[in-house]
Amino acid sequence: MTPPSPSSPRGFSRRTLLAASAAGLAFLATGCTSSSADEREQVTSEQADELDAQALAQVNEESGRGEGDSAEDLFLVDAEEGLTPTGLRLSAHFLLREFHCKDGTQVPAAAIPALKRLVNGVLEPMRTRFGKCTVHSGFRTDAYNRRVGGATNSQHLYHRTPSDVAADITFVNGNVSAWHSEAERLLGNSGGLGRYATFVHVDNRQQHARW
Ligand SMILES: [Zn+2]
Repeated sequence: MTPPSPSSPRGFSRRTLLAASAAGLAFLATGCTSSSADEREQVTSEQADELDAQALAQVNEESGRGEGDSAEDLFLVDAEEGLTPTGLRLSAHFLLREFHCKDGTQVPAAAIPALKRLVNGVLEPMRTRFGKCTVHSGFRTDAYNRRVGGATNSQHLYHRTPSDVAADITFVNGNVSAWHSEAERLLGNSGGLGRYATFVHVDNRQQHARW
């Protein structure tokens, strides 16, 4: 199947995207949001430590009840320092803290396996090609999603669809067209992929969704 032309994202013209982005409008159906609203808030490193600790406690509690994977299955363990020397590590280059909601809410434990799949299947291979990645938006609570104008059925709402998770990403090298093409190749005939003015949205839903 031929990937859609980068210059003509399906469903929205580039002009529409830019206009909607400028107005801070939500995109219907599959869209996430304008990036600018989401980037005004950040989690401090102290908050991130606390959110990691909460996520780890939740993982341990659930696996203790026989639900879900253990922390050792979900996170890379450093031989000398154990699980959390610099935060819970999903893969060689991605930390859980990059995906916590910017309103100070931890990634739900139930969504971490899907997040690990997204990171290993899409984000790490893209990082290999384009260099250091910035995650502009990962998990969003309902309230935070409303605040940034996200779609009500957004894959950023990890607590609603814990088996499908999303990330809005950029890289130090390349551009939106190159990132979009590579994500298209990696996702194949499934997952969600959205092209925005300054970033791409990727998610690992079962269906094929492009915008
Ligand atoms: Zn998004």
